Amino acid sequence: MPTLELRHLSKTYPNGAAAVRDVSLQLPAGVLAVMVGPSGSGKSTLLRLIAGLERATSGEVLFDGTALSGVPPHRRDLAMLFQQPALYPYLSVRGNLAHGVKPLRLGRGEADHRVAEAARLLGLEPLLDRRPQELSGGEAQRVALGRALARRPRLLLLDEPLASLDAALRGELRGELRRLHAALGGTMLCVTHDQSEALALADLLVVINEGTLQQVGPPQELYERP
Ligand code: ADP
Ligand code: ADP
Repeated sequence: MPTLELRHLSKTYPNGAAAVRDVSLQLPAGVLAVMVGPSGSGKSTLLRLIAGLERATSGEVLFDGTALSGVPPHRRDLAMLFQQPALYPYLSVRGNLAHGVKPLRLGRGEADHRVAEAARLLGLEPLLDRRPQELSGGEAQRVALGRALARRPRLLLLDEPLASLDAALRGELRGELRRLHAALGGTMLCVTHDQSEALALADLLVVINEGTLQQVGPPQELYERP
């Protein structure tokens, strides 16, 4: 059964913008999928529909075979990472990581364990007592990633997670994403407008243009066909 399935999903905003048009897609469990398309092609809108931050005009989102309409964002077994890390400025790195697991209502011991695990996975231990303003851009984005992963979501949604970083950091964090995906085994769906980034990251490429799904397949099939 696919982790994530979109069935004839469409979204037209109240101002008339048809951002997503009849998109149907299945993501197998455990895949690292990258959705690529130019700016304004509907990628963010699709992620927001999956996360429940936006209501579909028609069609549905299914998770492990169950339709999600009516399930609020915090009850969906997923986490989302944005282009800007959006950390809580008055919380330490430790506090920010802990905030990620708060909605799960874990016991104190398990919550502490999740925070320690996320810190270890992302190499954040030396930074745990710092505040966000004392972090570099790359460190802050790693904290945001740790906060998302501490939830151990079945699905991780990433909206241009590397776009605000410089080229060197982007390469480093891209490698980190692949490593974490291999270690944790969940399903990831990452959005980018950068084709070379998509090729470097993806097991499965999802190509979108003007709100419509153009192609789905492994990068080598889509781009290296004779
Ligand atoms: P992408 O993430 O690929 O840049 P978006 O999903 O942000 O694309 O946008 C797709 C289209 O929907 C664009 O034409 C954009 O202007 C429009 N759009 C996005 N968000 C809104 C919104 N909240 N209200 C109205 N139109 C929107
Ligand atoms: P990105 O390309 O990173 O998705 P955008 O500039 O498209 O960023 O969108 C930033 C925010 O503005 C999003 O929350 C999006 O929903 C909203 N937005 C985008 N286009 C419009 C629009 N035409 N009208 C209203 N809100 C919009």
